[in-house]
Amino acid sequence: MRLACFLLLVALWGSAHAGTGYDLRCEDAKCGFTASIGIGGGRMFEEATGYCPKCAKVVSVTWKRDGKPRSAPARFWDALTGRLREIFRCQSCQGPFVKIEQIEDFKHCPKCGKASLKARRTVLYD
Ligand SMILES: [Zn+2]
Ligand SMILES: [Zn+2]
Repeated sequence: MRLACFLLLVALWGSAHAGTGYDLRCEDAKCGFTASIGIGGGRMFEEATGYCPKCAKVVSVTWKRDGKPRSAPARFWDALTGRLREIFRCQSCQGPFVKIEQIEDFKHCPKCGKASLKARRTVLYD
């Protein structure tokens, strides 16, 4: 019994630390924006993912779970969501991007600006 509890905890811990991959698609047929995005990092690493407007693509920063990101994120309180958000530095252009905490936060299409993004879960990864 104790072992079962332990295994359950391990399973829960594992799933809480696994990342999820999504395919994003703009529902506006004329726009046609698509992107793949991973949220949550894996068992061994943390991941901050967001959209870099300068590179015009989904970008991410990863670091070891027991470590720190190369440059500390800036934090601000987002009045739209009422939550603290984090800003990381894009590794290709050094420009800022806002970390997407959950896929529901990414609903505005970066290309056409409409709230027309639909996400489809594709993979769970570690
Ligand atoms: Zn960039
Ligand atoms: Zn669009």
